[in-house]
Amino acid sequence: MHELGLTREIVAMVAGHAGGRRVRRVVLEVGTLAGVMTDAVAFCFDAVAEGTALEGAVLEIRRVEARGRCRRCGAEFVRETLHSPCACGSFDVEGLTGAELRVLSYEIGAPEAAAEGQGA
Ligand SMILES: [Zn+2]
Repeated sequence: MHELGLTREIVAMVAGHAGGRRVRRVVLEVGTLAGVMTDAVAFCFDAVAEGTALEGAVLEIRRVEARGRCRRCGAEFVRETLHSPCACGSFDVEGLTGAELRVLSYEIGAPEAAAEGQGA
């Protein structure tokens, strides 16, 4: 399952960045045309995070609308799929957004806001 490997990569990357500190929240940005099933990522996240710095962390997934610009008429529009044509009929469309797959931010601190005394 593609999303399981992806979730592992995300968890490993954030854990690496956090440098051993606990992470309580991760915000992931996923474009609607990124080819990622966000439900599956959310589903595996808890299991993948177990035993890492992200254990118990909240995963927030933000979908990014896919927009494209027509190379023929210059119009910008929302793309339902990678092959959605412009209203003018042209399929020559430059993708602007929608392929995003990145960690937007994460928060350091113990889950359940019990960070007192630990010095987050
Ligand atoms: Zn057009």
